[in-house]
Amino acid sequence: MIKVVRDAEPRVLRRNSTRWRDKLLRLRADPHATKKQIKAAESKYNHHEIKAQLKTMFADKCAYCEHKACVGHYGEIEHFRPKAVYPEYTFTWSNLLFSCAICNNASHKADHFPLDAAGNPLLIDPSAPTDDPSDHLEFRYDPVTRYALVYGIDDRGKSVEDVFDLNGRRGRKELLRHRSQYINQLRALIKVARTGDTDALTLVHEACMPHAEYAAFARALCQIYGIAQ
Ligand SMILES: [Zn+2]
Repeated sequence: MIKVVRDAEPRVLRRNSTRWRDKLLRLRADPHATKKQIKAAESKYNHHEIKAQLKTMFADKCAYCEHKACVGHYGEIEHFRPKAVYPEYTFTWSNLLFSCAICNNASHKADHFPLDAAGNPLLIDPSAPTDDPSDHLEFRYDPVTRYALVYGIDDRGKSVEDVFDLNGRRGRKELLRHRSQYINQLRALIKVARTGDTDALTLVHEACMPHAEYAAFARALCQIYGIAQ
């Protein structure tokens, strides 16, 4: 997870979000409204203009696990504050992220939204001006297992590690294996770059760019090996 700068609100939301929200809240409060009516009003958020802007903003990567969400899947609009719990934020631009289908499924985020004792979110919104994922997560390479592991260093980081099962403890081994395979290749590349190979160094720098998969881990590796970014 890396910090992401939020783009301007898409035109379709600027024009419609208040009207869409008011209609949704009105229907949810109406005992005669059908589930189909509520679902239709709620689904307005899933607009191609909104999704396209989120995809660009997150460089096609999942906001939470940094996997390329569009490889083998379309990726999803994700509500940081779940729309089932906070319907008033269903169309709020600052509440919308881009995620892979697995981070957003019922075994992981979905409607889970843990809060601390003061009622503040324990999960991290990488696009929030006040949140920086690097304050809460650390990235460790285990030379014995050759796994690239992501650990929470405080309650918020630990919530992220657990909810998204970043180290495969609850069964999400495919993410751990995919990230570890990539990081093992990057480690080999860093060793070549340190010999003075400029092509290798360019590739290492590219691996740290915001659009690169697992950029947070790549940046941490560069720090460990003393490679300026
Ligand atoms: Zn994900």
